[in-house]
Amino acid sequence: MPGIYIHIPFCKQACHYCNFHFATSLHYKDELIAGLLKEIDLIPFPSPQVEKGDVNSERMETIYFGGGTPSLLGVDEIQMILNKIQQRFFVSENAEITLEANPDDITDEKLIGWKEAGINRLSIGVQSFFDEDLKWMNRAHNSRQAIGNLQLAIKHFENITIDLIYGTPGLTNEKWKQNVDTTILLNIPHLSCYALTVEPKTPLDKMIRQQQAENINPEKQSEQFLLLMQWMEEAGYEHYEISNFSKPGWRSRHNSSYWSGKNYLGIGPSAHSFNGTERQWNISNNKIYIESINKGIIPFEKEVLTAVQKLNEYIMTSLRTMEGLKLERLNEADADKLKSASRKFIDSGLMRSESNSLFLTKEGKLLADGIAADLFF
Ligand code: SF4
Repeated sequence: MPGIYIHIPFCKQACHYCNFHFATSLHYKDELIAGLLKEIDLIPFPSPQVEKGDVNSERMETIYFGGGTPSLLGVDEIQMILNKIQQRFFVSENAEITLEANPDDITDEKLIGWKEAGINRLSIGVQSFFDEDLKWMNRAHNSRQAIGNLQLAIKHFENITIDLIYGTPGLTNEKWKQNVDTTILLNIPHLSCYALTVEPKTPLDKMIRQQQAENINPEKQSEQFLLLMQWMEEAGYEHYEISNFSKPGWRSRHNSSYWSGKNYLGIGPSAHSFNGTERQWNISNNKIYIESINKGIIPFEKEVLTAVQKLNEYIMTSLRTMEGLKLERLNEADADKLKSASRKFIDSGLMRSESNSLFLTKEGKLLADGIAADLFF
């Protein structure tokens, strides 16, 4: 079933490691929201998904407000966008509707408003419960807000996920355990964890090159990932995707649809869409996006995926999931090729084969991208 992603390209300040598309000035906020509403009207039919009124329409099963920082918007603005989506598409009655929120934006009033607007899942960008790490990342919140406002959110929402980052220079294994333990003790049903990466042209990249910041240590990152897998398993969470852990029944339906190759529609600057064969992405520039939408044109580029690209994407995404790579989904010749190519990884303990499927072992998960790339057709 299809899903919708809405990109809200504004943030209070730039986190040092971030390479997403966002602006720190709210100068174009009103025009941008008007643009999002207009883009929803402009989506051509047949769209990558479906339009209301089509008898064959599938229902939208998930809606995801990401960014950027969607929690910077007013509740009325979130409501307006959701109303527009409801007008244009069939939205399933039990759709998962997620809002990414930063701890410093969370208040009682907003939590009540988000719930009334239809949001039923919060994704909170905690990253760490330690001030020195948050400062190092240049996050807008502090540890008091991280814990206090997370506790506040729990009073209003059951379906909560938080993001944590590991492998930062100041994060010892003890502090990492405290971050994970806090999540478990608060009974948060879903956790996404990312190793800090140094993306080109980010402030962190510049700081490391100018020796103003310590570089990341890959061995420490591997150690912290292995510890994380152990702690989450002991706490009863499923490691259902390489960066994602959930209590049984609390997986992210929206993100799971990306990993299982389902269609999705992206709205807003830099948002990506996929219809099974074509991938398209909107321009990553707020001003040009608004100007183009005002002229009635969605500014995007697209690529048509070849059969080989689709196969390689399946290898990459399926190996990252708990369900693994199902060889029955490949033709016999490709499945045989893949089986022999994976033999060396199985022999070295990085992969395992079971019920005609291939999986990464814990050690293999440390090298997921490299292994997938090696298996590409
Ligand atoms: S809040 Fe999120 S999107 Fe914004 S700069 Fe920080 S990491 Fe990037």
